Amino acid sequence: MFCPKCAYDYTKVSGIIKKEKTNERLRLCLNPECNYSFLTIEASRSDSFWKEYVRRSNEENSNDKNQ
Ligand SMILES: [Zn+2]
Repeated sequence: MFCPKCAYDYTKVSGIIKKEKTNERLRLCLNPECNYSFLTIEASRSDSFWKEYVRRSNEENSNDKNQ
């Protein structure tokens, strides 16, 4: 997983938040000049979570274009 802020290739997991169907992982960028922390999510591919995720990201993208 790369850092979404500086695109550095190395990050580490510094915490896991367990939810009912998903795990969220708190990741830390290992670039000493960045140290950005961000969340990633792990869910079963067949889970309806991803359908909702795609729907919401499409909505956000079309909102961006309107602005
Ligand atoms: Zn970074």
